[in-house]
Amino acid sequence: MSEKKLSKVETIKAQSAYLRGNIKEQLNNEQSHFDEAGLQLLKFSGMYQQDDRDKRKERRKAGQEKDYSVMVRTKLPGGILSAEQYLVHDQLADKFGNGTLRFTTRQGIQFYGILKGDISSLLKELDDALITTLAACGDVNRNVMACPAPEKNRQHALINSLAQELESHLLPRAGTYYDLWLDGQKQKTSTVTYTEPVDEVEPIYGKTYLPRKFKIGIAFAQDNCVDVFTQDIGIVPVLEGETLRGYNILVGGGMGMSHAKADTFPRLADPLGFVQPDEILKAAEVIVAIQRDHGNRENRKRARLKYLIHDWGIDAFRAEFNTRFGRKIDDWVEVGPFEVDDHLGWRAQGDGRYYYGIPVENGRVKDAGSVRLRSGLRKIAEQFGTELRITPHHNILVTDLQAHQKNELLALLKEYGIRTKEEISNARRYSIACPALPTCGQAITESERVMPDVITGIEKALASLGLGAEDIAIRMTGCPNGCARPYTAELAFVGRSLNQYNIYVGGSFEGLHIVQEYAELVPYDALVTTVTPLFAYWRQARQPDERFGDFCRRVGVDALKAYAATLQVA
Ligand code: SF4
Repeated sequence: MSEKKLSKVETIKAQSAYLRGNIKEQLNNEQSHFDEAGLQLLKFSGMYQQDDRDKRKERRKAGQEKDYSVMVRTKLPGGILSAEQYLVHDQLADKFGNGTLRFTTRQGIQFYGILKGDISSLLKELDDALITTLAACGDVNRNVMACPAPEKNRQHALINSLAQELESHLLPRAGTYYDLWLDGQKQKTSTVTYTEPVDEVEPIYGKTYLPRKFKIGIAFAQDNCVDVFTQDIGIVPVLEGETLRGYNILVGGGMGMSHAKADTFPRLADPLGFVQPDEILKAAEVIVAIQRDHGNRENRKRARLKYLIHDWGIDAFRAEFNTRFGRKIDDWVEVGPFEVDDHLGWRAQGDGRYYYGIPVENGRVKDAGSVRLRSGLRKIAEQFGTELRITPHHNILVTDLQAHQKNELLALLKEYGIRTKEEISNARRYSIACPALPTCGQAITESERVMPDVITGIEKALASLGLGAEDIAIRMTGCPNGCARPYTAELAFVGRSLNQYNIYVGGSFEGLHIVQEYAELVPYDALVTTVTPLFAYWRQARQPDERFGDFCRRVGVDALKAYAATLQVA
């Protein structure tokens, strides 16, 4: 039988001595950037090599190389960080980066524009503040997501500590990160706890780690803000009052796909079953190990766990899980219905204190004109000094405020021109866009830079139809990889070709359905006019309180197209 040909990245990993490769040598050479093997290995330390794509043409003409830099992502399980840690991010964005930060849809924070020679200094200063970037990217478990609401009850305490435990349990153990960037020092990075391997270098991952990235999210049924069905492993605690009965486990969700490759697709996770509270770490490890041993290592486009489960079927996957787990997993316990809360505005924590959710459009933290978001968040962190939390909608929560501090906070928001949820439309509030151009090497089209204008157009269209107060989850990405989770949105724009997007409809506000393609290759300028007829049809034919995504799914794409065609004829 002929041996299967491993993908290029698999060979790089296999030859890298647990991800070291020759990164040390490359750090000491004169080059402004890393070679192909180096940039693949860098990902495991939480960074992507990029170049400023706005400058490519001009630099090529001038005979200059690309304007290389690195995006560095910090890992914050459940999105939690102290005010001091936030201020460190803020300072380092100026010291080493491009003066902006970006909150991510996995509750981390990204720096942009880091030069190769500054990476080690940045990581050391982050480490001094007990922040790690280890495994924030790469073919390993990424930042574990959890509902960020700082409510002071047993349920929320449970999921916060579970996020930390999973993160620590599934952290790479090889020590490469510490040797490369921190002079071999392992005493810090306590956003997750590092444990020395006992008898193998990588007891869970092995020498070639996972075939592809791996994502875990924890959600309550009544608050699916982490989009739990889009995760490789989704965990839903089952509670009886304050008592934890155990955990429902979902497997095989994922967003990415490739255009025009029918064997790649977004997928919602399947219910695997239910485990006892003390079995959850073992269950997660077993799932990771099945993916490690059986995931596709020849074709990275089909390497996520979702394809393994699609190809095997959930029953075969469950049988393999049971064998390795040592018992038959219990049946999934009915929970739900699933709902979503973005946690914006004032909320009581349950301990006499309050938290406040501030919207951050597309997660970008910068000062722009009269909206001085970055300065304002810095001032808030300095003035209140309380814990902050990044949400899965790339917003931020200021926690532990006393009643008398409410007006102080609102005054600061006003002073810095930061808009509250009451000052933006619901379309803007629930919108998410990925970074795309000019930094992302995968981007086919714009996303973050144009989404605010697209939303302005949609706001006008909705207002003219009397639909301005409706909640709609609208998302945009610059390529089909799906970083902004477009394929569960009610309306999504996904970069397809130069300045052209595919339009998708029919996901749900609660993240329970996958979209369907409505239109292909729509020019950027026509995005709003193309979807406006759909809003008109929704207004005319919706059932009482029916959401936009649910309506589109119920009537179907053909009916939507037929309706839009009648408007064009008229
Ligand atoms: Fe880049 Fe594509 Fe992810 Fe957007 S969705 S950030 S363009 S990889």
